[in-house]
Amino acid sequence: MPNRRFADGEMVMGRWPGSVLYYEVQVTSYDDVSHLYTVKYKDGTELALKESDIRSQSSFKHRKSQSSSSSPSRRSSSRSRSRSPGRPAKGRRRSSSQSREHKDDKKKTIQETNVVLPKPSENNTRSYNGEPDSTEINDTSSIILEQKLKPDLEIERVLEQYSYSLRPRKEEKKKEEIYSEKKIFETIKGIEKASSKTKELEFGGRIGTLALMFFLPATVLYLLLMCKQDDPSLMNFPPPLPALESLWEARVFGVFLLWFFLQALFSLLPIGKVVEGLPLSNGRKLQYRINGFYAFLLTAAAIGTLLYFRFELDYLYDHFMQFAVSAAAFSVVLSIYLYIRSLKAPEEELAPGGNSGYFVYDFFTGHELNPRIGNFDLKYFCELRPGLIGWVVINLAMLLAEMKIHNWSTPSLSMILVNSFQLLYVVDALWNEEAVLTTMDITHDGFGFMLAFGDLVWVPFVYSLQAFYLVGHPTAISWPVAAAITILNCIGYYIFRSANSQKNNFRRNPADPRLSYLKFIPTATGKGLLVTGWWGFVRHPNYLGDIIMALAWSLPCGFNHILPYFYVIYFICLLVHREARDEHHCKQKYGLAWERYCQRVPYRIFPYIY
Ligand code: NDP
Repeated sequence: MPNRRFADGEMVMGRWPGSVLYYEVQVTSYDDVSHLYTVKYKDGTELALKESDIRSQSSFKHRKSQSSSSSPSRRSSSRSRSRSPGRPAKGRRRSSSQSREHKDDKKKTIQETNVVLPKPSENNTRSYNGEPDSTEINDTSSIILEQKLKPDLEIERVLEQYSYSLRPRKEEKKKEEIYSEKKIFETIKGIEKASSKTKELEFGGRIGTLALMFFLPATVLYLLLMCKQDDPSLMNFPPPLPALESLWEARVFGVFLLWFFLQALFSLLPIGKVVEGLPLSNGRKLQYRINGFYAFLLTAAAIGTLLYFRFELDYLYDHFMQFAVSAAAFSVVLSIYLYIRSLKAPEEELAPGGNSGYFVYDFFTGHELNPRIGNFDLKYFCELRPGLIGWVVINLAMLLAEMKIHNWSTPSLSMILVNSFQLLYVVDALWNEEAVLTTMDITHDGFGFMLAFGDLVWVPFVYSLQAFYLVGHPTAISWPVAAAITILNCIGYYIFRSANSQKNNFRRNPADPRLSYLKFIPTATGKGLLVTGWWGFVRHPNYLGDIIMALAWSLPCGFNHILPYFYVIYFICLLVHREARDEHHCKQKYGLAWERYCQRVPYRIFPYIY
């Protein structure tokens, strides 16, 4: 006898996959191997749902007047604006009359059964994450036109998304107040709570994350020690260990703290615009001040002043290991603080990827999603400021150290290339700071050891390895070689920047006329997946560009040792792993639409290879 809660023929409420909305459905069968129920919507659409996505009708209070019109797909498009199953967040925006009408009934948003559902396909049994059979769509005007000719509901839904984007912000804000998003999310919170625990552990679970907490600092130590060797060959493993007391100096730690707090001060300056991040699980949007580029300019002015007054910046080179140890010690203390404060954070503010209930895992991946002290967002700050800006300052210190040690009046061509390429990368990140708000680090990962160590230690001290290497291992390259490497870096940068801009602009405003030539697949979440342009070339064109640049950063170091190629090797591993993580999340988010995208764009990062 199968262990099932709902019987065949029973009328229940089924969650629309990828959303928080429930609709009246009839159970038609149960598969006791996959433990999935096949349920039928009123318009005939069939989906396979997990038991956790089905509720009894008694747990929902019905509004008869609303639910009487049964077939969801027969509703007018104006109603569908707020009810589309694929619009969990945007679906909260109703017309003001509707909102007032329902003011006293908080449960209304999840009771509706008269919503627009995608038109059933010929074979309308879909998998769990079912989304409408998608047509590739390009610009908004063509959608409007098509809709007039053929009221296809999928198109209608995509249109809703556009009309949302095109509406003036003021009006949006007003509506947000009227509909009181908070209230609506309070209602659905209970339902979402059940699934807020992290079930699938990444990075090898508890053992893997524990190992990484030792392995990452050990790797930094190893790389820096090797780089100091005259012959940094892998055959010389292990490098001689320095005396413990030589790794720590209070003054160096003081300089590190000064740097960290100076950057914090710059980030708090009321210059630069304030933007909203993506909606959180409770519907709230956090505000972020975008002033990274200004912080960079202020830092450049401060460093310029120090140099003018003959401050020896190569102090950084002389105490490089001690700086790395100071940053590592600080990141451990910061991680402990973050974990302790996360224990008091409300459930809804925990990171979807760092709420497993296992101390080690949550400590590593980060328990709280957006830890803030007042308006100061710790994760956002660490992502782009002390480490990233620190990286270029370290590079500059290496350049000066090279000149000083070798008694040169100008730096080597190799050093100039490494400095310029990486400076371009950092300036680009700060110039396009807003784009970081849509990255996995901000939207999915909590702030714990992984990001604290990554941002404050790994980025500045490992990414500057080529410059560090060149100080002790001068490498002469000819102008034609330098030109070829520069072209390679430019190609990488072009792919990286245009791919990222294409996606960011599309996410910000899919109706942007500049993107009208692009085609995309609509999904049940209301977002589209680009299938032409860079995102139709490979599934992560931005990673491809990034890897090409990484190679260009290592090539100026010549071919005597593999050490300066550590970055590109590590980076390929990182991005292949990151791509797999992202793929997994996208599959969960977009279901069949993602599978269709993968069929359409078969290569992940490297065309015809991977
Ligand atoms: P991406 O910018 O690659 O974003 C991935 C997300 O894009 C997906 O989750 C999905 O999110 C969306 N997406 C995927 N496919 C499509 C499509 N076809 N059409 C539209 N949207 C799509 O994520 P990352 O945060 O990993 O990378 C950001 C940048 O940072 C990259 O350039 C990367 O190279 C760089 N990076 C650099 C690192 C470094 O150490 N130097 C480390 C990590 C990243 P959704 O649908 O929800 O919008």
